[in-house]
Amino acid sequence: MQDISSGTCVKFVPRTHEGSFLDIQPRYGCWSFLGQTGGSQTLSLQTPGCMWSGVAAHEFMHALGFVHEQSRSDRDHYVTIVWKNIVPDQMHNFRKQATNNLNSPYDYNSVMHYGRYAFSEDGGPTIIPKPDPYIPIGQRDGPSALDLHKINVLYDCGANE
Ligand SMILES: [Zn+2]
Repeated sequence: MQDISSGTCVKFVPRTHEGSFLDIQPRYGCWSFLGQTGGSQTLSLQTPGCMWSGVAAHEFMHALGFVHEQSRSDRDHYVTIVWKNIVPDQMHNFRKQATNNLNSPYDYNSVMHYGRYAFSEDGGPTIIPKPDPYIPIGQRDGPSALDLHKINVLYDCGANE
């Protein structure tokens, strides 16, 4: 939360009377709904597996409305999805979404990007960056500079400037 709020105009406050809010719970796994669903909205951070600031930032960015970076509408220019290596019932995680991308370049360093072996069936890569296959992907240290920039654009953080 601090990593996001210190770099954007998005602030996290304890809920008092708000009708729509995040209910952060240690359920099974690390997950969030996409964007504001209205009312009470669970965001799961299992203990201790999800207790990493980058993992939490990833889930909060889902709640703020962001899909996985490799699901961007323009991703085919930047990564190859190796469908034959993906666990069959996880293929939906690699579908493209009709994102507008906020005039921002593709970000291999995004905290929203999967790693190259995500949902691999046989240990082979499922995502290969291009043209340079060795560009690191899948960091979970925290939001990248571009992640913060995109939050600032989506939430009109510079609207008064
Ligand atoms: Zn995710």
